[in-house]
Amino acid sequence: MKNLAFATIVELKQKLENKEITESELLSFFLNRLEKHNPELNAAIEVFDKDSIDKQSRQQGTLSGIPGLIKDNISQENRKLTAASKILDGYTATYDSTVTSRLKRQGALLAGRANLDEFAMGSSTETSAFGTSKNPWNLEYVPGGSSGGSAVAVAAGLVPWALGTDTGGSVRQPAGFCGIMGLKPTYGLVSRHGVIAYASSLDQVGIFARSAHDTAIVLSALAGQDVRDSSTLSVQKKDYTQTLDGSIKSGMTIGLIESMINAEGVDSEVHGVINQAVKDFEKLGVTVKKISLPILDYAASAYFIISRAEAASNLARFDGVRYGLRKRKTDGLEKMYNQTRHDGFGLEVRDRILVGNFVLSAGHSADFYQNAQMVQRMIRKDLDQAFTQVDLLLAPTQPAGAFKIGAYDKQNKLQMDLQDYFTCFVNLSGNPGMSVPGGFTADKLPIGFQLVGPHLSEGLMLQTAHAYQQVTDWHKKHPEQFVESE
Ligand code: GLN
Repeated sequence: MKNLAFATIVELKQKLENKEITESELLSFFLNRLEKHNPELNAAIEVFDKDSIDKQSRQQGTLSGIPGLIKDNISQENRKLTAASKILDGYTATYDSTVTSRLKRQGALLAGRANLDEFAMGSSTETSAFGTSKNPWNLEYVPGGSSGGSAVAVAAGLVPWALGTDTGGSVRQPAGFCGIMGLKPTYGLVSRHGVIAYASSLDQVGIFARSAHDTAIVLSALAGQDVRDSSTLSVQKKDYTQTLDGSIKSGMTIGLIESMINAEGVDSEVHGVINQAVKDFEKLGVTVKKISLPILDYAASAYFIISRAEAASNLARFDGVRYGLRKRKTDGLEKMYNQTRHDGFGLEVRDRILVGNFVLSAGHSADFYQNAQMVQRMIRKDLDQAFTQVDLLLAPTQPAGAFKIGAYDKQNKLQMDLQDYFTCFVNLSGNPGMSVPGGFTADKLPIGFQLVGPHLSEGLMLQTAHAYQQVTDWHKKHPEQFVESE
């Protein structure tokens, strides 16, 4: 029997259907994997015990008996919720987020809470109050972030799927670093009710999985309008596996974003992966042509400003009164607020709140925030225009393979912020973006490439990635250290 740890959802469903394994055995198998490997990988902040998972109310559906992990900024009823921050110490979620309840409705087993950068702010999980997650391909390297724990769990075969959130690249970049699929859906396709907000005009829940097909199964469970989140679009629920027939849309054209390929600092190994992906797509009958989108050079700066501004507003609610931590209970309200926020938030989060308040402040907002919004509108316009010429866009996900833990500290913080360079334009425009495993560095660290599509083109993106995965096997490579014979 093929190693169960790295089986796809499709394969696991088949095994359950054929009665080769029971749901209870499958859950025990993955809980054992988590128990064995989580201490060294730090993928999950908490792994739930089997009894409490068994007691989860759930129905039968497309994910019946398939375990997965949820990033710990997404509410699960009666479970702790920390956003990897000390400020939520002692807080327990009182309700299920919409994505949590939709997964339960499809029969999924939710096995724990995945580690992340504090409040999803970071690109490495190093800002987590619960320690850094480790890249399973090399434990000295970061897995990317902010949804690093979710990516690690899938890449190391601890669960077959996981949820993350993506505000500037937090699903796609760790998916690239860990060698798995990562999808950020169109803004408004998936509900954020019950998800801790970072930057509300950019946040989306995203999916980690082993293949395009598995991603389609999880997306089908999540997507669709939600009365509890008025930013969701009025789209009908649909089955995203329907278009996965191995073919490519006829007459398909992919635009290679020229400036991103030529951007300073892009590693030659990333060039190699992009060139190979282009050749593979051409073999599949796709026309690949270069496309110029100079406005994207400004995306990272605009993202930096907008995300900090919205974060400052969203994080105002953590004041020691409503949630979690409370300091100096008797010393006056003002001091209690200050002390709680000072002790509760980590440095990166405090830094962003300060920057956010500054860029919104009187006298500065025209220079910063309003300019950034103008760039955002131009990105939207230019992308809409690009999609009149091509069906999808192709770009790097990451400038290079994963970096070493501790490599980008306070001295070279810019390097950390530049991790968002290739991914954040998609959040600014609301388009769907997906990282697909496409190769490795000479040191055996994964490299992903990114497909970006028009609004609500997830069906086409997944169809294209699925066809690519029929003729390539990058998504089937696993870190040897975690592949064991059963
Ligand atoms: N690295 C980005 C940031 O730190 C992305 C975060 C995210 O998408 N949540 O802001």
